[in-house]
Amino acid sequence: MSNSRTPTPVVVLSRCLGVEACRYNGKMIREDFLRQLSSYVKFRPVCPELEIGLGVPRDPIRIIAGDGGRTLVQPATGRDLTRSMTTFSQEFLTKLNDVDGFILKSRSPSCGIRDTRIHDADQETVRERGAGIFAAAVLEHFPDAAVEDEKRLRNRIRREHFLTRLYALARLRPIARRPDREALRRFHAKNRLLLMTFNRKELDRLDKLLSGGREPDEADLAKEYRRRLSNALSRNPRYTSLIDVLIYAFGSVSKQLTDRDRALFLERLSGYRNGKIPASGPVGLLRSWVLRHGPRDLRNQTLFHPYPMELNEVAGPAGKKPLQRTLYDA
Ligand code: SF4
Repeated sequence: MSNSRTPTPVVVLSRCLGVEACRYNGKMIREDFLRQLSSYVKFRPVCPELEIGLGVPRDPIRIIAGDGGRTLVQPATGRDLTRSMTTFSQEFLTKLNDVDGFILKSRSPSCGIRDTRIHDADQETVRERGAGIFAAAVLEHFPDAAVEDEKRLRNRIRREHFLTRLYALARLRPIARRPDREALRRFHAKNRLLLMTFNRKELDRLDKLLSGGREPDEADLAKEYRRRLSNALSRNPRYTSLIDVLIYAFGSVSKQLTDRDRALFLERLSGYRNGKIPASGPVGLLRSWVLRHGPRDLRNQTLFHPYPMELNEVAGPAGKKPLQRTLYDA
């Protein structure tokens, strides 16, 4: 179920991911998920290499790790592009407002977020893998944003996780823009079960943050809340946490259910606990009952509609432990 009041997430996108054939070889990458996502989020495409004046096609560039730090060079021409790329990245990111996430091209010396080859001074030997120059600036400027690359998003567990975090940040954005302790408390109440599933310790810290009087400045409070929320959603939840939360929510609707329904839920929960069915089994069942019979507080819980469910329609591998880790897949 999508929530029409959720602000449209704003996502900075590497331009070569389905927008323009601007890669060094004159090609672009098409991804089904990104095509589908384009109907739900506002993409802000950017190609840092075009922005610093490189043409299409162009000679490849690479990152060299030296004693004085990392440099971005174009071996075929001998050009050092470090300063122009660094300057562009700083200027572009400083001007960005209201951004919830980034989807960047993997392995690129500009856009790769973690798997870009970093070469030795001989320009050939791969010393390690890390972030490209633009992506490193993104991670520094926006430590709380949802950031992924297109390759990792082919995995539906990562997609689900990315979307959950992205939409939570987008829902928080209007509140963070006009900080208001009461609005923050209402937001927190709606996200309680989601946070309980993802990170109970961080939920406790957020509870304290909102109840204590130590943050007189509401802008600081909103900033700190956003940081902690993003951190809470930065890792996949433990499946045992999800089971605890589902049992808790089930308790609120079980009186309205038939014995057969109750038995069905417990059977699905047991199947999930034993790794025989995915989480979507008990979650989907409970969601339908919560929407029909649940009290308003429960119906509003983002755990049951963290992002538009239509976004789960793109197929893809689920990873090594799909049954225990997926929450919302169809
Ligand atoms: S990876 Fe980044 S710099 Fe390279 S073509 Fe794509 S958008 Fe441009």
